[in-house]
Amino acid sequence: MEQTVEQKLKALYELQTLHTKIDKIRQIRGELPMEVADLEDEVAGLETRIQKFKGELDDTEDAIVTRKNMIKEAQNLIKKYETQLKDVKNNREYDALTKEVEIQSLEIQVCEKKIREHGFEIAQKTEVYEKALADLESRRKDLDVKKGELETITAETEKEEQALTKKSEKAETQIEDRLLIAYKRLRSNANNGLAVVTIDRDSCSGCFNQIPPQRQLDIRQRKKIIVCEHCGRILVDEALTHELAEQQ
Ligand SMILES: [Zn+2]
Repeated sequence: MEQTVEQKLKALYELQTLHTKIDKIRQIRGELPMEVADLEDEVAGLETRIQKFKGELDDTEDAIVTRKNMIKEAQNLIKKYETQLKDVKNNREYDALTKEVEIQSLEIQVCEKKIREHGFEIAQKTEVYEKALADLESRRKDLDVKKGELETITAETEKEEQALTKKSEKAETQIEDRLLIAYKRLRSNANNGLAVVTIDRDSCSGCFNQIPPQRQLDIRQRKKIIVCEHCGRILVDEALTHELAEQQ
């Protein structure tokens, strides 16, 4: 089956239209999976931080318990020394015991100071810890919302995309290999995915450069496949796109 140039152009433009529709669907869906992945990372990061804070808080609380036990021990020793002081035999013994009581009293003071410091640390860390917990909760909510959006959009667009893909595959069979390869190369090189474009206000609607009047005439005649001198995209006239739209 030998196609006329006009038929070739129509087939190319039709394929482009289908591909553009698929591109749009993917664009709509495109950013959501990334947003979901970012939120998942953030939630995981917060969970790790919270775990770490919790561990630090537990350690500090343990340290307070240890200090409190040390105080009890020192108090017991002081009591013991004070009992012994009641029946000292000589000055030397008296001095030694008094010295011991002093040492234990100092030990108690050190422990009390440490306990106050740990208490201050706990208050500070608890604030950070609670802020992280609140952040985690709000991030988890955001994640749920985004996941829901992604699921809805995926469900809504998947069928449409599949149908369009099927159509585009069928449309590709209507185009000779040489042209199809050229089309695909153009499409992959263009960041807007456009390989076949119309004349819009005397310009190429792919790169917006002006098209000389004679060239526009040639394009409208549909006797030759004409590409833009600037960007290399295949050019079709507006009327052709309307004719195609009417056919569908
Ligand atoms: Zn161009």
